[in-house]
Amino acid sequence: MNRMIYADNAATTKLSKTALDAMMPYLTEEYGNPSSLYAHGSKAKEGVEKAREQVATAIGAAAREIYFTAGGSEADNWAIKGVAHAMAKKGKKHIISTKFEHHAVLHTLNALEKEGFEITLLDVHENGVVRVEELSAAIREDTALVSVMYANNEIGTLQPITEIGQLCKEKKVIFHTDAVQAVGNVPIDVKAQNIDLLSMSGHKFHGPKGVGALYIRRGLIIPNLVDGGAQEWGKRAGTENTPGIVGMGAAITEAVATMEERGKKCKEISDYIIDNALKIEKSRLNGDREKRLPGNVNMCFEGIEGESLLLMLDLKGICASSGSACTSGSLDPSHVLLSIGLKHEVAHGSLRLSFSDENTLDDAKYIVEQLEPIVWRLREMSPLWLHISKGE
Ligand SMILES: *Cc1c(COP(=O)(O)O)cnc(C)c1O
Repeated sequence: MNRMIYADNAATTKLSKTALDAMMPYLTEEYGNPSSLYAHGSKAKEGVEKAREQVATAIGAAAREIYFTAGGSEADNWAIKGVAHAMAKKGKKHIISTKFEHHAVLHTLNALEKEGFEITLLDVHENGVVRVEELSAAIREDTALVSVMYANNEIGTLQPITEIGQLCKEKKVIFHTDAVQAVGNVPIDVKAQNIDLLSMSGHKFHGPKGVGALYIRRGLIIPNLVDGGAQEWGKRAGTENTPGIVGMGAAITEAVATMEERGKKCKEISDYIIDNALKIEKSRLNGDREKRLPGNVNMCFEGIEGESLLLMLDLKGICASSGSACTSGSLDPSHVLLSIGLKHEVAHGSLRLSFSDENTLDDAKYIVEQLEPIVWRLREMSPLWLHISKGE
């Protein structure tokens, strides 16, 4: 049996045909430098500027507000360190974020803490959703920045971004959102939602890897990320990744155009798995049942190790994850699962499946069929399960 089911789209996605086709000329004949003045370079420049328009349109921004970066992590670092350093000059050194952000945000905040910034991390509760009234209570006179992710990368929960944007506007606090998992999957309008900075990454919506963007609201000035040439209005110097940028532009336009239909299909797949896998004894769904990305399933099965489960699923041709790609390989349970109050031993038995429109309901049926006997086989070998089943 050579079946291969890719169910790890939260880690990365397949490059779409549309994105590849858009990129090809820039990987071959259109290799000019966008900054050059001859026609050959201006073709490249046109490609970059068209992509800037496409990215801006997808999130309701103006092209002038889009800065290309080398991915989501870079955009997060720039947004948070940039605002922190700009606001520190005005005496504001307090930052509010959440306990379950991506490490690109959390480790950036750790670095700022060492520089003397004060960090408040909001609770995300059992359902994995921030409470706006708790954010409101945490905002102080010296709060420089609120950074709350749009959708969590492990449990898929969607945050009340519109309400947070409204609150930050009223309290005159800058608002950044890591929207890497949300872009292309849920509608976003940075103006209507009062978002000041937003991070995205091409490879999470069927674009190429190593390219992303930071939206910075017009009028908000943060320090340069890279000093050098005049690229990105001098704020992030360096010859543009023309093929990557063009591919991301094509991918985001396609993702927005197919969002609704794709969402429905992914939700049908996820719902099938959730409904059926929850029939397995001592299993649970992680994160709110409704407020989640349509293609995300995150479950725990007590008495087993997520890593063993992944290996067994891999033998059946199923590519899944137990947490974020960045933490797989370490034996610590996921900080996201601990943040929603799971005990260490339960958090260890986690499984994340994340779908795209390449997946089918047939995949969902196959996954459920394979999952149940694997969980039981692992439990039979597990001393932990022996304790659980005896009610100890
Ligand atoms: C993948 C991801 C990132 C990092 O993006 P890269 O482009 O891989 O650097 C940041 N935040 C979230 C929520 C992600 O899912």
